[in-house]
Amino acid sequence: MTDSAVTTRTYDREALTQLLTRPAFVEFLKDLEQDGGYESVSVLVIEVSRFGVINDSVGGGVGDKVISTTAKRLQKILPKAVAGGRLHGDQFGFAYVDVDDMEAEVNQILDFAQRPLAIRGEIIVLSIRAGVAESRRIDSALTELVHAAEVAVHHAKHSRSKVAYFDGAMIERARSVHHLENDLRVSLVTNASEIHSAMSHSEFELYYQPIISSISGDIHAFEALLRWNHPKRGMVSPAVFIPMAEQISVMSVLGSWIIRKACADAMTWPPNKDGTLPSVSINVSPTQFLEAKILQGAVSSAIQETKIDPSRVKLEITESAEFSKTLLDDLKRLRELGCVISLDDFGTGYSSVAQLVDLPIDYVKVDRSLVTDIEAEDPAIRRKGMIIAKSVLQLADSLELTPIVEGIETDTGVMLIQALGADLIQGYVYSRPLPKSEVLGFMGNRK
Ligand code: C2E
Ligand code: MG
Ligand code: MG
Repeated sequence: MTDSAVTTRTYDREALTQLLTRPAFVEFLKDLEQDGGYESVSVLVIEVSRFGVINDSVGGGVGDKVISTTAKRLQKILPKAVAGGRLHGDQFGFAYVDVDDMEAEVNQILDFAQRPLAIRGEIIVLSIRAGVAESRRIDSALTELVHAAEVAVHHAKHSRSKVAYFDGAMIERARSVHHLENDLRVSLVTNASEIHSAMSHSEFELYYQPIISSISGDIHAFEALLRWNHPKRGMVSPAVFIPMAEQISVMSVLGSWIIRKACADAMTWPPNKDGTLPSVSINVSPTQFLEAKILQGAVSSAIQETKIDPSRVKLEITESAEFSKTLLDDLKRLRELGCVISLDDFGTGYSSVAQLVDLPIDYVKVDRSLVTDIEAEDPAIRRKGMIIAKSVLQLADSLELTPIVEGIETDTGVMLIQALGADLIQGYVYSRPLPKSEVLGFMGNRK
């Protein structure tokens, strides 16, 4: 690229990271387009979603160090990029010319995301999402690739995947998500009293899905699953709005409401035929652990106010939660209150066995994605499914944790899970999540 604009021009750099500023990154793409001589250009946008939180919890000095270290590491692992920029506080952009295999670059990012940073005595695990936009697929100016890759990141976030490649249909989806996000901001301004008012208008509701002992038929627990009954949009899936609530830092307040409501609802449930009472399983978002005192306060006051036996309160944490040393202490404190801890989405995160051994937990919830194939029609898929399910259950067993298998939809599935030595099952085969008003009926029918 001799004598081209991109090789002769000097672009503005950002002080902290020495990467291009956003306007400079866009200028670079403009110049690249003007110079021509390429087959394809790709833009990779990486969002590191915890910077804000890290800044708040450990102070700006460490936050800056995290950003500059991340920028340095990204440049190192992405040597094929022809330019790198810091697009926003927590967003980086990298441009590529004629790189066919963007997947290899993306894999580098995923690998990077798994390696914690040690900065001034803090172990920091970043949570990363990436979006890729390629000129081959978009018929517009190269500068548009930045926006397209950002739309892809947004899409990755809401589909709970780490990476997304831009396609045209995403624009439409992004628009509707954007509307939803604005609605959410309106309903959930970061002010506790307004959230209470949104909650008292009953836009949020807890549904309950039973976890059944497949051998005795008893109801072991009900998992509380949040629903947002939007006045205009109808039922909105938690997979869409919980990540948003996390992002705008309202999950702690919403989470506290969920804990109190779920414990109060559990106090209305009758005993099983053997006299035992079903537990209540409550999902706790990783962001709630960033304000661990609020979480502990919410759990202990819910126990006091509702007088629920704390051993009936199960808290579900996710494997993607950052397993820092403080998290282990927080979990121990919750257990000291008498609660039981379950690890949700077991097998889908990237925690190592070494990390799992140290976790103070009692149950693991085996994610549906790992067992769904045992119910497949095709015998070859079913056979593979059995191998995977078996090894995940063996892992749970060697960690001395009780498995709860999620997402079983058929009687055959129940039989196969039993054959693999597991008992507790949560899935459509027993029931879909039920509104509170239908729980008692469900319990009555099982007696
Ligand atoms: P999760 O905690 O793993 O919950 C299980 C999800 O699997 C639920 O989806 C449930 O409806 C679904 N499911 C259960 N059995 C079956 C089955 O047999 N087949 C299929 N196809 N699906 C099944 P849901 O209610 O949409 O919740 C999605 C996720 O949203 C939850 O996954 C959880 O991570 C999150 N979530 C839900 N409620 C809360 C909450 O109150 N707080 C927090 N922090 N997260 C929540
Ligand atoms: Mg759960
Ligand atoms: Mg789960």
